[in-house]
Amino acid sequence: MLKVDALHAGYGATEVLHGISLEVPRGKVVSLIGSNGAGKTTTMKAISGMIRPRAGAILLDGQNVTGLASHRITRLGLAHSPEGRRVFPTLSVRDNLLLGAFPRLIGSRPKGDVATDLDRAMDLFPRLKERRNQLAGTLSGGEQQMLAMARAIMLRPSVILLDEPSMGLAPLLVEEVFRFIGRLRSERVTMLLVEQFAAAALDVSDYAYVLENGRVSIEGPAERLKGDDAVRAAYLGGGH
Ligand code: ATP
Repeated sequence: MLKVDALHAGYGATEVLHGISLEVPRGKVVSLIGSNGAGKTTTMKAISGMIRPRAGAILLDGQNVTGLASHRITRLGLAHSPEGRRVFPTLSVRDNLLLGAFPRLIGSRPKGDVATDLDRAMDLFPRLKERRNQLAGTLSGGEQQMLAMARAIMLRPSVILLDEPSMGLAPLLVEEVFRFIGRLRSERVTMLLVEQFAAAALDVSDYAYVLENGRVSIEGPAERLKGDDAVRAAYLGGGH
């Protein structure tokens, strides 16, 4: 599981996060909700080591990973599927997926059977299976997003951070991405999710935190936040 305690982070002289605390229990999906610029992506980046926290603590399965380089945090079992699709365009779909498993082979994580995991990832995304020998750079935007998510699974991570997986996708693909998140949830994959579609995010989440100006303003079980008047008025109008 993931525990974040009083996290401060920012860019240059600007502090963006002013003491964020949150928990993602094992087997649960937790969402971060908030307006543009509230600090959701910055929280994800600070957790995964893409930016260095200024204060506070990040515990992954009880281990303090605060301030470690991102590749070390990955080896300890945190997969980050960042905003924007980061696939290796000149490698095939299959090779992109295999690279997802690489950190676990050199880290202390369970090595497991990579070939079986590859089959499982492709079964989750039949579209990727059909295109397994195609260069990732020639996939559509939606397919690249799916590849980025499937690659995260290949790490067999303790926790997955998913930042805006539906960004830039056509509505049908957005539905597919949420179906996929729901399926991972039913398989008890532990996830921290940031999504512009807050209502859909709450539907696939167990718990959620609302960020406002770098602080947690509201938190609670997803079901309860869906019915909360303030949350509905500010975030569930459809535009977010
Ligand atoms: P969005 O939904 O728009 O992505 P967000 O909640 O993810 O919003 P962040 O991307 O975390 O917000 O940004 C929080 C604040 O940090 C914003 O004011 C943004 O301008 C600032 N910021 C983000 N990235 C950088 C950067 N690389 N350098 C300087 N400031 C940044």
